[in-house]
Amino acid sequence: MPTAVPTPKAVVHQRFGAKARYTVEEVREDVGGCPGLAPQTRNVYRCALDLPGLSVATPGTFLRKKDAEQAAAQIALDKLGIHPTANSPTTPQEAWAELIARISGFFIDENFLSSTHPLIGHLCVSLRRTGDLIGRLPLSAIAACDVKVNTLCKLIDHRAEFDPLLVLSLLYNAAKQSPGVSVSDSNFWIQSEKPYSPEAVDSALERWSGTTDPVEVEAVLVPHMLEDELKTVRINLRDNEHYMSYVAAELSAIDSSHVLVSRTIGKTSSEIRLYFAAANIHAVSDMSKHALDSLGDGDINWQVNKRASYICGQTIYGDALLANIGYTRRDSELHTEDVNLCSYYRILLGKLPDGNCKMSRDSILAAELPSAYSRFSWKGLSPRDLLCSFCRLQRLPEPHFAVSRVSCDTLMSAVSSEERGAPAGSAENQYTNDVRINKEKPDLFKCEVNIRSRKQEVLLEYSAADTWSKESDAIQNSSLKVLIWFNNYFKKLTSKTGKLYLSESTAGVKVHSNIFLQEFAMCLSVYGKNGCSDSAMCSAVGPFSMDTQKKHLESTAKLTHIEGPDSGVFPSHGSLTCISYTASLVTKDKAKTYLLESHNEFEFEIGTGAVSNQLESCVTQLSVNQTARFVAELPPRDLIMAASCEFSHDLSNVSSESCFLEFSVKVLQVTEPLEDRMEKALFSPPLSKQRVEFAVRHINELHATTLVDFGCGSGSLLDSLLEHPTTLEKLVGVDISRKGLTRAAKSLHQKLSKKSTTQTNVPTAVLYDGSITDYDSRLYGFDIGTCLEVIEHVEEDQATLFGNVVLSSFRPTVLIVSTPNYEYNPILQGSAMPNKDDEADESAGPCKFRNHDHKFEWTRLQFQCWATGLAVKHSYSVEFSGVGGSGEEPGYASQIAVFRRLVQGQEAMCLDEDGDQPYEVLWEWPNACVN
Ligand code: SAH
Ligand code: MG
Repeated sequence: MPTAVPTPKAVVHQRFGAKARYTVEEVREDVGGCPGLAPQTRNVYRCALDLPGLSVATPGTFLRKKDAEQAAAQIALDKLGIHPTANSPTTPQEAWAELIARISGFFIDENFLSSTHPLIGHLCVSLRRTGDLIGRLPLSAIAACDVKVNTLCKLIDHRAEFDPLLVLSLLYNAAKQSPGVSVSDSNFWIQSEKPYSPEAVDSALERWSGTTDPVEVEAVLVPHMLEDELKTVRINLRDNEHYMSYVAAELSAIDSSHVLVSRTIGKTSSEIRLYFAAANIHAVSDMSKHALDSLGDGDINWQVNKRASYICGQTIYGDALLANIGYTRRDSELHTEDVNLCSYYRILLGKLPDGNCKMSRDSILAAELPSAYSRFSWKGLSPRDLLCSFCRLQRLPEPHFAVSRVSCDTLMSAVSSEERGAPAGSAENQYTNDVRINKEKPDLFKCEVNIRSRKQEVLLEYSAADTWSKESDAIQNSSLKVLIWFNNYFKKLTSKTGKLYLSESTAGVKVHSNIFLQEFAMCLSVYGKNGCSDSAMCSAVGPFSMDTQKKHLESTAKLTHIEGPDSGVFPSHGSLTCISYTASLVTKDKAKTYLLESHNEFEFEIGTGAVSNQLESCVTQLSVNQTARFVAELPPRDLIMAASCEFSHDLSNVSSESCFLEFSVKVLQVTEPLEDRMEKALFSPPLSKQRVEFAVRHINELHATTLVDFGCGSGSLLDSLLEHPTTLEKLVGVDISRKGLTRAAKSLHQKLSKKSTTQTNVPTAVLYDGSITDYDSRLYGFDIGTCLEVIEHVEEDQATLFGNVVLSSFRPTVLIVSTPNYEYNPILQGSAMPNKDDEADESAGPCKFRNHDHKFEWTRLQFQCWATGLAVKHSYSVEFSGVGGSGEEPGYASQIAVFRRLVQGQEAMCLDEDGDQPYEVLWEWPNACVN
């Protein structure tokens, strides 16, 4: 890859950093003008640049500030004789020549007088030494400090990027040819051939004159044997010694010249690196000799340290020390920071697909990678950013996103061709003519994602089935799908449940397993066996697939210590809920409590899987202002350690059998689902009320006595029907959500018992747990069936299945189906968006769905195609209407289809008392005994 020539300012900055001072002066310059008129002037700039030991200024002026600065920098570089390499090396031979030159350059007196290069830190401390070590540097210090050297090594041999040993080998052989420096034959020291000038030595000693107290730094020893436990070590750094000699002592290396240094790990600003010992000088030296001409594999059969190699992405041999020590450009003193077990486990966690998500929310134990993306409720790094950083940390190239436009036409024809295939009945002409063709066909977006190997071979492809109305939503959703795939895969990996197998394709994901396994080999070997040292703590983490996740959502946490009155405001599905919580590890004898995690305000959307199942279950059992505690499933040890902060040392000795994890939770605030907020903000009465009134009109028109509400949820329709005077004698609700049904039961019970004390003809009511795509003969032939805002919550094929089942088997006299009108979304979302800090492009173009749980939202045409097809097939008529708005362009907010059975009087036909009763009665109120 050709690198651009750096600008003069960039070169000055690289050399002098903050020591370069630019002074820009603004001057007014006469530009002439016409005789007799006021002279015209303009602003121009001149720049002075002060460097240590050199000051320059531009002789002329410039129209732009930045041109003046660049000119000043160029003058300074000319004076210093520094020439930014116009043509960076591109061939290994050129790179080799430049490497040799660069190594010499480090030891030139002038360089180190003025430079802020971190290598100067190493040099200065080495000048404080006595004896034959004075002025000597370990070669790997150069490798650790100089980016350019690493780039050159990579050009010479691409494998150098992943192999510090190869870098050392290249450096060693290059240094042997570098003029002005000498390297030893028996170790990896390098030094200037001639002594430094007294001025240089003085300035170095001056720089480090502030004698600092000895510092103690914590570091983590990562043994190369996977079975061996990590160990925290304390290193005592004293002023006069080069820090790498302490590292050498920890690693039992011959001396610090034998210590190898990895690249930095984690944040770019960190100095966290892995240190390990090089053994045999001849082997190291030979390594690159082969590499240079034949690229032959050196026969180094030292033990690869898998854990260490995995966390830094380079090959690390033998025992390694993870430490945060080093010289930087930022300050002239040695930078040190403690690295403890918690730091190690956080680095490990950060490499997992959900790890960054947890850490970007600062919530390792409570937060999970959500199963759905919504621009409005997503917290922390976006799915796209998470996927990019996942790939980066796994040393893979950036993911490739391909967005394509899909015209709405294509989608609609897909819907209609499916339904039109139905046998044509007499009613066809009558109703298909009703279908209006909408002129506006907004484009939708799809996004495909490719993950590639380091060699740019595709290892995973995701091709999206879903379309989105915004390009960014398409990218975020596809990114999330890929992340979820990786997450499920890694969960299986880390939980060691049985054999791991790579499913070649699931839900749009296609994996090229040989390439995949090759790229993740190091990772697999770390997690594959003995990944966790404490197998009891390694138990399964939770849901692996989306299916089991759904089941888990209904799983309940056993609450204790519930405090506070029931305020009646519950966090419901789709609501944004704010809680405070603490998570503590408690020893079984309760002697010790370690507070692992706490938040005063933590917000998430219920139903997206953004927190652990048990926490969500706890929250949905509480009302606003209530607090409770529960004991959670113990997370894997790695996770506990990553959350352990200052307790990491103590916790490394605590066994999983002897403790439990306790959450304490308070619900602070609940914001209703966005859909509801929008519907309330824009319509009066609210849309849900209007839907109820719409249904009541039809009930009364029909003198209906029996009604079944398909997907009754928490019973808002049934509940309201009890408040209206209707002809109904029997009310039935069906839903698959027990939580919803439980709420429905509570409110129905209240209403019905009140009614029974004052009225005589109280309707009977039944709540069934069941899926509306299954036929239950007890609900055959009802007068009216309603299915309000339900179909968009199931996949399109399920919606069609429901349509077929209800019209062919349940056969109600009238069926009312409502669903959002997609074309209305821009109005809803444009005017009623309560979120203030959303992106500015919010108003542009058609928006996303109204609720993250919606699997689709249809245009009028799509809905009408669906309904008409069903009606024709099952001998119903269908009429279209709606609520919310006038019905003019772009139609009602909520579109409604009213189906009427065309053939009458067939009630008794297929009644089968015993068969076909898959529904489970959950609650029943026969009118006689409500109380
Ligand atoms: N009709 C209610 C609820 C709408 S929310 C109202 O207007 O307020 C959608 C409901 O459909 C949820 O309660 C969900 O549990 C339910 N649902 C989704 N798929 C279902 C299925 N296959 N069978 C039964 N109910 C289902
Ligand atoms: Mg809905």
